[in-house]
Amino acid sequence: MAEPHRKDASDEFHALLEKQRLEGEAKLNVFVEAVAEGIVVVSRDGKIQIANRRVQEMFGYTREELIGQGMDILVPRRYRRSHVEQRKEYFAEPRIRAMGAGRDLTGCRKDGTEFPVEIGLSYVQTEQGMLALGLITDITERKRIESEITRINAELVRSNTELGHFAYVASHDLQEPLRMITGYLQLLERRYRDKLDSEAVQFIHYAVEGAVRMKRLIEDLLALSRAGTQTANFRPVDSQTLFETARTNLGVAIEESRAAVTAGPLPMIVADPGLLTQVFQNLIGNAIKFRRKDRPAHVHVTAQSSKDGYIFSITDDGIGIESRHLERIFGIFERLHSADQYEGSGVGLAITRRILERHGGRIWVESKPGEGSTFFFQIPAQPHGVDASRAATGKS
Ligand code: ADP
Repeated sequence: MAEPHRKDASDEFHALLEKQRLEGEAKLNVFVEAVAEGIVVVSRDGKIQIANRRVQEMFGYTREELIGQGMDILVPRRYRRSHVEQRKEYFAEPRIRAMGAGRDLTGCRKDGTEFPVEIGLSYVQTEQGMLALGLITDITERKRIESEITRINAELVRSNTELGHFAYVASHDLQEPLRMITGYLQLLERRYRDKLDSEAVQFIHYAVEGAVRMKRLIEDLLALSRAGTQTANFRPVDSQTLFETARTNLGVAIEESRAAVTAGPLPMIVADPGLLTQVFQNLIGNAIKFRRKDRPAHVHVTAQSSKDGYIFSITDDGIGIESRHLERIFGIFERLHSADQYEGSGVGLAITRRILERHGGRIWVESKPGEGSTFFFQIPAQPHGVDASRAATGKS
């Protein structure tokens, strides 16, 4: 009597286990179906065991058309042979990894159209043997955006190069006619000074002044375009030496204004020595030029290491800059004073910024009007500026 009873209990227990297993499986299935990526499970012989809804949408097959089919129907015909090999290799040495490391992978829809995919591989040991699991992402949109970015970048590099070339040619070619105008005006002034009334002489004088100023502007424009186009020669240099060269070059201005120009210990950096000397020279030159009239300027240069390289600072005790102008002064021809207050053309900081950008660095300023300014520039340990993209186009 006891036997059948025990059997009933055991049957019941197994039925309960089976029910729980089926319920668990059903729950899991709901999740697998809901995943936004394609999930496909393949047995060692390459037959599809599971293909969730996203796989069906991506490839245009129904579930019935997929289950039990060879996985290679999802692969373009030309790759099928190598795909079989790759599957064998995977089953021989299964790991969690991306498929096709670094290669572009392509999926093939039922209608024969192809699309780029990314596949993550994984595996599970089951009672029916090992199963490989592929997580498939359709990356059509990502590829489209990537190629759009590449196209826009190439276009930007091309138009920048063209613009740089235009600025160079324009400023270079403008010099000659300007030289002629200045030359003849000066001749007129010299030869006919006695024959002209004082007003006419005054007019000629204004015209010469204008031409001289235009000459300076053109020269500065040319310097700006050179700063952006001349081939940079990046190498390890002692920034202390560059600072000292800049200070020597500014010798006359320093002496005339009795300025004190000092520096803390400055590090070895990787930079174009000529271009970076120009940065020091422009910033120290400005610190002296925009000094307060009531005292000689004190200019101090320091450097401290930063996350990616160094941050230099050039501090002065000059006239300072109002906060609303702190950005604008780095633009071309932007100045805050008339030429008779402080001479200059407003190109120095634009050149400085361009040079630093070529090094992959940047520049900014903090200031208190009437008290002084500190210009900061950051320069990376390894230059990675616009020159990298220029190198890619083969232009210099
Ligand atoms: P420039 O010196 O020829 O005027 P820059 O491009 O070098 O041209 O500088 C732009 C403007 O920024 C200057 O005209 C000046 O108004 C302001 N500026 C630059 N450096 C300083 C400084 N150290 N202190 C105060 N103002 C400054």
